[in-house]
Amino acid sequence: MLAAAERGVVDSVRTELFLGGQWTPGSSGARLAVEDPATGEVLTEVADASPADGLAALAVAHEHQAAWAATPPRDRGEILRRAYELMTARRADLALLMTLEMGKPVADSAGEVAYAAEFLRWFAEEAVRVDGRYGISPDGASRMLVMRQPVGPCLFITPWNFPLAMGTRKIGPAVAAGCTMIVKPAKQTPLSMLALAGILTEAGLPPGVLSVLTTEHPGALTGPLLKDARLRKVSFTGSTEVGRQLVRDSADQLLRTSMELGGNAPFLVFADADLDAAVSGAVQAKMRNMGEACTAANRFHVHESVAAEFSQRLAAAMGALRVGRGTEDGVQVGPLVDAAGRAKVDQLVADALDHGGRPLTGGAPLDGPGYFYPPTVLAGVEPGARILREEVFGPVAPITTFATDEEALAQANDTEFGLVSYAFTASYERAMWLGEHLAAGMVGLNRGLVSNPAAPFGGIKASGFGREGGVEGINEYLDVKYVTSPR
Ligand code: NAP
Repeated sequence: MLAAAERGVVDSVRTELFLGGQWTPGSSGARLAVEDPATGEVLTEVADASPADGLAALAVAHEHQAAWAATPPRDRGEILRRAYELMTARRADLALLMTLEMGKPVADSAGEVAYAAEFLRWFAEEAVRVDGRYGISPDGASRMLVMRQPVGPCLFITPWNFPLAMGTRKIGPAVAAGCTMIVKPAKQTPLSMLALAGILTEAGLPPGVLSVLTTEHPGALTGPLLKDARLRKVSFTGSTEVGRQLVRDSADQLLRTSMELGGNAPFLVFADADLDAAVSGAVQAKMRNMGEACTAANRFHVHESVAAEFSQRLAAAMGALRVGRGTEDGVQVGPLVDAAGRAKVDQLVADALDHGGRPLTGGAPLDGPGYFYPPTVLAGVEPGARILREEVFGPVAPITTFATDEEALAQANDTEFGLVSYAFTASYERAMWLGEHLAAGMVGLNRGLVSNPAAPFGGIKASGFGREGGVEGINEYLDVKYVTSPR
């Protein structure tokens, strides 16, 4: 049973489709339930968009593209700035709403609201800096003008783990660049995105620029859009498996694609590392979002001379974290998002125990309602364990050892993924060597957090391509055009 304040924030959100600036029940009238993962209680139901609703949203996006692209950049930037301010003013309510549908502690949700809003502020500032260049051809015979123009209507597909931030880092640059868009949030966490649609409307986003379509049948909704020539771009954040499928489905229309996919981050601790900093960096890199982050440290490779001490200290720090419903005071670890997510963590731990793993803390799901799994540290995990190769997406830290720098680097890079790597060492030379040789789009040196709206976030290899945030982020939404003339 929800408390009155909780019921209030849930009931404050419109649960219809946001289609071209109008709230509508959708053509099928079907609804889908949204659950509190801490209790299993149904919070509310939202509209279930049909393929026809998707095509209607694309028609609107296409119709409004030219006028939106012609809107002065300062006006587009000011809309983002006002939305940033509204999000900041309503941070507490947005955080509670996010915790109710996703599970993370309210303080962490408030952190995500701030992080998500920062993308809007960053791209409010970038909107007025879309420049080009002028040049003279080497033979002096012609003039060259290079301009950047909006790609056109975009489709955004976002995951449940960061329900707002994974949206704003696409919506922010798209608004700044002058693209119209359709957003399909994850079925577990539609409420945060629907609330954001309301905020963007209040901030002055014109009708037709944004649609938010919630659905139980993502492939059926997005498939026809990817085949439609009016769509010009798809940006996806989610699993590598779905990302591969979307790239294949985008091939016929040769769509621009940005793919922010899965990770399997190594966390290296060298013999000379400051162990206090390494342990707190490890807790941050592992436990942010209960381990349900693409940037989560997935596996710990520790120099054999400090492995025992690091493992004990990490287990003490993780074992001391308070687990519970994210709305309760002092809770630091919420539930996992659903039964399937927790079952996968459980299987990976069982396999790690078969491969030499010894639990120093945690190691089995918690009883009771909700999808709770305790912070877990597994020492002595042998190569070959699935948990070292697959994305855990839960609060489990498997530890393995290395003897030399070369061995550490080889272990770190032995993965199909390449999103982020972390390393703790006191040696400047080793840190620079690692910065150059770790095969990842991002590297955290003596730091357990890399996410920053001012930095280019993204991966290589099976972690995808494209960058979100930074001065690079807006380029995903701009085409380059070259114009020439004689003198
Ligand atoms: P997912 O299953 O791939 O789902 C992500 C989104 O794709 C959801 O909105 C989902 O809709 C939708 N989707 C699923 N199948 C689809 C299909 N056939 N066609 C179109 N859309 C489809 O991933 P997840 O489990 O929700 O999210 C966790 C994954 O996201 C992890 O692998 C994580 O590493 C990755 N991630 C990456 C980044 C990054 O920036 N690199 C950031 C955050 C998360 P439904 O909700 O309806 O299934």
